[in-house]
Amino acid sequence: MSNSPLGTGAALLSARRPFHIGIDLGGTKIAGALLSGAGEVLAEARTPTPAGADLIVAAVIGLAQSLRTTLQADHAAADVDAIGIGSAGVVDIATGAILDATEAIPGWRGTALAERVTAATGLPVRVINDVHAHALGEQRALDIPTAHSTLLVAVGTGIGGSFLVGGVPLLGAHSVGGHIGHVPTPAAAGIRCSCGALGHAEGSGSGTGIAANYLASGGEALDGPAIVERAGAGEQRARDAIERSARTVGELVGGLVNTLDPHNVVLSGGVPGIGPLWWQPFERAARAELLPRTRGVDLLLGRSAAAACRGAASLWDERLWLELLAQVDTPPHRPLS
Ligand SMILES: [Zn+2]
Repeated sequence: MSNSPLGTGAALLSARRPFHIGIDLGGTKIAGALLSGAGEVLAEARTPTPAGADLIVAAVIGLAQSLRTTLQADHAAADVDAIGIGSAGVVDIATGAILDATEAIPGWRGTALAERVTAATGLPVRVINDVHAHALGEQRALDIPTAHSTLLVAVGTGIGGSFLVGGVPLLGAHSVGGHIGHVPTPAAAGIRCSCGALGHAEGSGSGTGIAANYLASGGEALDGPAIVERAGAGEQRARDAIERSARTVGELVGGLVNTLDPHNVVLSGGVPGIGPLWWQPFERAARAELLPRTRGVDLLLGRSAAAACRGAASLWDERLWLELLAQVDTPPHRPLS
């Protein structure tokens, strides 16, 4: 576990209570940030995601305690008020439990995350899906007005999404809203998705998809970063694998923009960070799909490394939280028979 030093004394002194901890829990790493009430990041820490639900919960607790200790080392009288967590998987925000999770985190399904972290820390905990947390954080980092709708597309090991209306993520009727990786997409045809279906965007458009495209075109079994390195060295097969992957995300985003007509589209995650080799075919494919009135939409690259932590901490914004709860408290509509 590595901690960055607490922000400058002046920054901390200017920070007013309450202090929140935001945690971003993914398949490869767990990141945490200590935030002031004004949303300023005062300290950060991270640790690799261990194998198994019990060890993951212990790592989250350890990270939270280390950030709390960092705060108290500088200000003995100060304490953390609450914790927000953005976790991979389908989250029941009403209980903070994980309803479902893919094999990216084996055994994560069914974990009573909020309850267990509260029991160990004595702090109240709120949990949301990590991509929704990311979207909430990017909206703040990019200074996007709450009145604007925002589509966030996160492309990493998998593909996730979040659609914010009035600054609130659309959770859906079963808390599955935002699983945009599972949209059938032409450039992903014939490739198996992590959910088992053929032709979903995630199978070709994710970092794992770059590897699948490389393999499908006769290349060796390499991971995404190794293929990016080969592409950088000029290997055509590697460049083609990245191009197909980027085109897949472009087709997906183009279709979603036509469906939702968002004010802003934000691309985040490691894959869009590959650079022009990815971004140019992505943008070309996305714009080729757009209807005339959506053609001017801005496609932005996310900019905040701590976005998901910041977004998770923002769950302690009571207006936001009540609007999220209102979505899951609504029973499904049953037409009169
Ligand atoms: Zn799928």
